Amino acid sequence: MQRLDRQAIALISNHADPAADIGGEEAGGQNVYVRQVGEHLAELGWQVDMFTRRINATDPTIVEHTPHCRTIRLKAGPEEFIPRDEQFAHMPEFVQSFQEFQSKQGMAYPLIHTNYWLSAWIGLQLQKNGGTQLVHTYHSLGAVKYQSIPELPDIASTRLAVEKEILENADCIIATSPQEKESLRNLVSPLGQVEIIPCGTDISNFRPMSRTEARAHLGLSPQDRVVLYVGRFDPRKGIETFVRAGALLHQKGIPNLKLIIAGGSSPDKADGQERLRIEALVKELGLEEVTTFAGRVDHDSLPYYYAATDVSVVPSHYEPFGLVAIEAMACGAPVVASDVGGLQFTVVPEETGLLVPPQDHEAFAEAIERIICNEAWAQQLRKQATINVNQRFSWSGVAIQLTELYRHVLAKSLMHEQPWNFRSTPIRHQSYPSKILSKNLCQS
Ligand code: UDP
Repeated sequence: MQRLDRQAIALISNHADPAADIGGEEAGGQNVYVRQVGEHLAELGWQVDMFTRRINATDPTIVEHTPHCRTIRLKAGPEEFIPRDEQFAHMPEFVQSFQEFQSKQGMAYPLIHTNYWLSAWIGLQLQKNGGTQLVHTYHSLGAVKYQSIPELPDIASTRLAVEKEILENADCIIATSPQEKESLRNLVSPLGQVEIIPCGTDISNFRPMSRTEARAHLGLSPQDRVVLYVGRFDPRKGIETFVRAGALLHQKGIPNLKLIIAGGSSPDKADGQERLRIEALVKELGLEEVTTFAGRVDHDSLPYYYAATDVSVVPSHYEPFGLVAIEAMACGAPVVASDVGGLQFTVVPEETGLLVPPQDHEAFAEAIERIICNEAWAQQLRKQATINVNQRFSWSGVAIQLTELYRHVLAKSLMHEQPWNFRSTPIRHQSYPSKILSKNLCQS
């Protein structure tokens, strides 16, 4: 039922269910983003309805997360998991289900915030009916993604066209980093309104804790040198690079090396193939003794992993933002990440971690070794990593910036032809002390 005392807004995330378990089959950063943004916007006074495609007939149609924030699952194609690249044909039914839901409620959302290009298409159809303002977050950009894969999927040309159309026609696009804005301008279109509002992390959950306590909790010893990957099993996340870097460190005789891979669902799911491939690689490289597959870990338990680790590795081939990097840093884990996309925005090289070329396992091994073998420097990195995230990437700060943006978009719709003069809260960039030089001081 619509709450009349609050302004209702719709977040649409058709392939990423905000109420889903995170870390498994195609459930990752976007699910987290939509859910966190939704809940934090509700705290700021909005009525937030988050719409997603129904993938399981036994799932509840409506999930109430808080009194003013709920997930609503709409019928759009068969009620089963469908890979996102195969969902486009069902989007007209999503639009229809959305409109029926609005009619039943006797209202229309004045503002719709869409997520990912499939939802962008939905938003564009709803915008054509008039009366709604459209805000969009890409989460992933076809024009960037397709540069790093050998074979384009059949849907590529449709996706690229929709990504251009939404940029040129939405009331505002939210880029989550300056790098994403640059890609939009260079690769998609010079037209359209773009504002930068980053992703965030829950800093009350992701925060430093005693390393000794975290290791004891996970059954790790104080002497272990722990290198962690957290994320989905998807070739573009670069787990192969992580494993190959681990193999180099193992060959070098780094003592007490422990590789932990957290994430993934089960072998029968869509991400199972990549998991089997990685498991086979671990075996082939003789790393079984030093590698743990932790499976999917929930957000309540992940802080133990991040706090216990010496280095958290984000080896993505490309990464629009990369929530794992800020979660790890929030917990005080130095990050070694690919020098791509949003990771260039979140990781401060030499201050909170290191950036290296994607898919270069030798460079990853070298960077990991620099950190795990220099405890004094690692301690500085840990402190600075937490400060970096607390100052720049809290969800409450993100929700405040989105609220200002929505208000501006809604006000502008009432005052035709007003110039665009929204200024989001400036993102604070911390100034760090001069670079800390590290030496490779590995001691057995
Ligand atoms: N995640 C999780 N448990 C796991 C693996 C991943 O909760 O076992 C979460 C992780 O904490 C993060 C999200 O999945 O919040 C991944 O987001 P990111 O932006 O790093 O990558 P994406 O999945 O969007 O490519």
